[in-house]
Amino acid sequence: MDFDDTPDQAHLRVSVRKFLAEHDSELAHGDGAYLEEPGTDRVDELRHTQAVLFDGGLIGLTWPQAYGGGGRTNAQQAVVNEEMHRARVAGPIGHVGLGMCGPTVLRHGSEDQKERYIRRLLRADDIWCQLFSEPGSGSDLAALRTKAVRRDDGWHIQGQKVWTTLAQYSRYGILLCRTNPEATKHRGLTMFVVDMHAPGVTVRPLRQMNGHQSFNEVFFDDVVIDDSERLGDVDDGWRVALTTLMNERMAVGGGGGEIGVRSDALTAHAAQRLPQLSDDRRTLAVEALGKVLVESLAARYTGYRLQTSMEKGGRPGPEASAGKLTAVRVAHATADLGQRLLGDDAVFARSSDGDWRWATSQASTPGIALAGGADEILRNIIGERVLRLAPDRTPPQTKQAESR
Ligand SMILES: Cc1cc2nc3c(=O)[nH]c(=O)nc-3n(C[C@H](O)[C@H](O)[C@H](O)COP(=O)(O)OP(=O)(O)OC[C@H]3O[C@@H](n4cnc5c(N)ncnc54)[C@H](O)[C@@H]3O)c2cc1C
Repeated sequence: MDFDDTPDQAHLRVSVRKFLAEHDSELAHGDGAYLEEPGTDRVDELRHTQAVLFDGGLIGLTWPQAYGGGGRTNAQQAVVNEEMHRARVAGPIGHVGLGMCGPTVLRHGSEDQKERYIRRLLRADDIWCQLFSEPGSGSDLAALRTKAVRRDDGWHIQGQKVWTTLAQYSRYGILLCRTNPEATKHRGLTMFVVDMHAPGVTVRPLRQMNGHQSFNEVFFDDVVIDDSERLGDVDDGWRVALTTLMNERMAVGGGGGEIGVRSDALTAHAAQRLPQLSDDRRTLAVEALGKVLVESLAARYTGYRLQTSMEKGGRPGPEASAGKLTAVRVAHATADLGQRLLGDDAVFARSSDGDWRWATSQASTPGIALAGGADEILRNIIGERVLRLAPDRTPPQTKQAESR
């Protein structure tokens, strides 16, 4: 791909930069969405930020205009992302909706659902969550047990989900349920949109090792969902879920974005800290820095290649899995080096100062490595679909290529 801006892109870049400068005081700033502790005050601030960006035409750039999107290209989206990154605008609070739920509703939802949900999702008027994982089914997602039974007044839901990011702030979620216990496990699933404020929904936040409470366990006790809230056909939910999962891998770094502390922050940190190190340690740190920066650039350009192919009509495939794997590795290496550059000062870093971000990122990346498909599962997908290696010996109904 050509890395120089076309005249159109250059024009867009100037106007985005101008918009961000003019609205700077209305925007929240920070590191990527995956490093945020979304306490209530911060959530309000982040919602406002997303609304300002949406009103300025900077959210949902590639989404259909009929539902509030910009109808523009992925390359134009990349320009906007770069400018937001440069201005250190905080990652969008609606990242689960933007990255996973919205694309799923757009692809499998009815016209009525798209009209009711998409614009509000883009503007963070409604926050969304993804209700897939259960205590007994993460990587082997299709083994899930939350039941949906059809009665006269709608689908009755009974069961439990876990690790549901943003559920405590969400108005809606996409919910994968078992509707046919007799069918093989990938065939008897159905996807719904669920109102998280409906009677029978209980959300309990969980604390992670980075100290944040960004995900939750969610209980469904005879929650009723109208059939008009189904996404896709009855018992065809696995196909719908694959749309979500592929978009999730694109969103979590697959598009070339950085998911931990950004590499320019690492460079600035290194410039400050390197002079304080002994010669030996400085040499090692410089080598490590070079390696992280090269990997980060490679991840970004590979992401651009994927975006270019999507612009030509492609869909996110195994490349998104490779992109997510690399983005996580870069985030991990960035956090480790940032922490090592602090040396003994790492012990004294506090949550109120900038040095804390390295520890937060170090404690967050193992979780990001699991979310949206654990590293081992993504490697299996690449092994089987890209390298054409023999599938593993798992029984057919839990085949890797079909699981997360
Ligand atoms: C920060 C975070 C946010 C999340 N947000 C959401 C969310 O919003 N919604 C949602 O539904 N879920 C969410 N999840 C859950 C996530 O999707 C699961 O954690 C993930 O799918 C792994 O499932 P598990 O935790 O049950 O681990 P397991 O599936 O039990 O896996 C444990 C380990 O075994 C390995 N393993 C499992 N099977 C195989 C195999 N066949 N071959 C090789 N290795 C294997 C895995 O790679 C992993 O290392 C989130 C998780 C995290 C950490």
